[in-house]
Amino acid sequence: MARTIGVLAMEHVAVGVVDGDRIAGKVQVFPEKGGEDSLRDVPGDEIAEIIRRQVRLVSEGSDPAALGVGIPGVIRDGVVAESPNLQQLKGLALQSTLAAAFPATAVRILNDADTIAAGIAATRGELDRLVRVWTLGTGVGYGRYPEGQGIGEGGHCVVTLDPKERYCGCGGVGHLEGIMGHRAMRLRFLDLEPEEIFENARQGDERCREFVKLWHRALAGATATSIHLDGPGKFYITGPNARFVDTALLNLTLQEMVKMSPLQGSFLEVLETSDAIAIIGAAVSAARTRAA
Ligand SMILES: [Zn+2]
Repeated sequence: MARTIGVLAMEHVAVGVVDGDRIAGKVQVFPEKGGEDSLRDVPGDEIAEIIRRQVRLVSEGSDPAALGVGIPGVIRDGVVAESPNLQQLKGLALQSTLAAAFPATAVRILNDADTIAAGIAATRGELDRLVRVWTLGTGVGYGRYPEGQGIGEGGHCVVTLDPKERYCGCGGVGHLEGIMGHRAMRLRFLDLEPEEIFENARQGDERCREFVKLWHRALAGATATSIHLDGPGKFYITGPNARFVDTALLNLTLQEMVKMSPLQGSFLEVLETSDAIAIIGAAVSAARTRAA
């Protein structure tokens, strides 16, 4: 039987067969023993080839019915239009490459954070609701299910008018990622790793405490912007740096920023996710496209 397959290409390429809202069998990861940034120096065409090979492996001979791929960056018509944290992907026509390799397959390319939002919606029975997610890692991703018509680069929304705030990976001034991104934190505190910044703040270090406050205000501000544009609802926070989030402080700050009564009732929740969630989300989105 033709399968539905989901792929996440972020720190590595992870591929799985999806049955309904769960993974059937085992998730294939390439490279098997990669570090966190094992795709950083791999050219875009080669990443496409790795995806093709891994999909071929798990589909066991027959073309999958639907194939969804989550990848970081701005995705337009199946092409990676921009990818600040994996720049070699820029211009990669992933959809047409994979559609040529699997002619009988409905191929769908999505932003990686959108696949996580779709995966959360699918696995928590929230496919009938608006689900938004912030992913905190090297950069900051913003995902939405159902996928919006827009660009969806919420990680780059402007949260400060201070012209000195220029640590964002995209080069833009005042961006959320320029405060919250792992890379941006290392650039700001050249002498401290992000873990040490949060630890020092707990110990009472003034500079670190001020920054941790700013870090939470930035996320609350970006969330408030999303609420004012798109309505209230539930926001999930995930990714490796979600461990730094003080949920109580964040929700309190958000309440101070959203005061109109029809927009109340939103809240943020930290949720640990895995490759499996994104794989399920990519597959569910591709299967829904096929059915539509
Ligand atoms: Zn930016």
